Amino acid sequence: MTTPNAYIPHEGGLPGCSIVYAPRGQAGEYAPLATNPYRGCGHGCAYCYVPKVLRMDRREFDAGATERANFLGLLGRDAAKYRNAGITEQVMLSFTTDPYHPGDTALTRDVIQSLQAHGLGVCTLTKGGTRALRDLDLFRPTRDAFACTLTSLDPAFSAKWERGAAAPADRLQALKAFHDAGIYTWVSLEPTLDTAASLALIEETHAYVDLYKIGRANYLPMTKTTDWEAYTHAILELVNRLGAAHYIKKDLHRHLPEGYPNPLRRLQAHPEGRA
Ligand code: SF4
Repeated sequence: MTTPNAYIPHEGGLPGCSIVYAPRGQAGEYAPLATNPYRGCGHGCAYCYVPKVLRMDRREFDAGATERANFLGLLGRDAAKYRNAGITEQVMLSFTTDPYHPGDTALTRDVIQSLQAHGLGVCTLTKGGTRALRDLDLFRPTRDAFACTLTSLDPAFSAKWERGAAAPADRLQALKAFHDAGIYTWVSLEPTLDTAASLALIEETHAYVDLYKIGRANYLPMTKTTDWEAYTHAILELVNRLGAAHYIKKDLHRHLPEGYPNPLRRLQAHPEGRA
């Protein structure tokens, strides 16, 4: 089931709203709406583009996340505007931080509750693994989603690239727990640091993942050395063989067969229970 991306009447989000916004460009392929409660992130991913985008010193960014000033008050103001405009889509946490970073994430719980109280859906995208289970009780099968970014099943590989993030097995455990609770789950396979690792992740997780969003690596050593066309074809063969729902990101579109169905937006919830 797909939903049209017609619920954001203005590029960037509703006028006057900056805390709940409509991500542009590559980020917009992940979510119609987003919010970022923290500044910084303690996961220290070597490939993280956020310090550059925010023009923030990388050491300061990697030192850990801090709450943005008066975040709940500003969030409530924006969320009320979305509610008054009749917009009920999921708001994703987060693009420029991680909602389950290694520090104090009590604010994340308050943010989820505030968004829900204003009629919005919620989706968290995290590398925090089972840290997220603290908030499992808040997620509604009919409205919300839980997502993880995965780059490899190998803990040593992950520790090299995502030194402060939860180990891959811990992230898989979180996905399973949300799935078992009836929550829609999806996985971001981006950046793709090792194509064989991404294929292995799909083989390993497809029984409890509802959707894969698949991209490539940009501005990294493997960007130029990887055969992205072969990777795209291998991915398509695998997800179609397994019956796994997927979205191929724009960076890989040129490698898709002509006319390949690749809906940008899907309903990321189980409104009538899981099939
Ligand atoms: S989890 Fe996301 S925001 Fe945090 S360091 Fe890694 S890529 Fe950056």
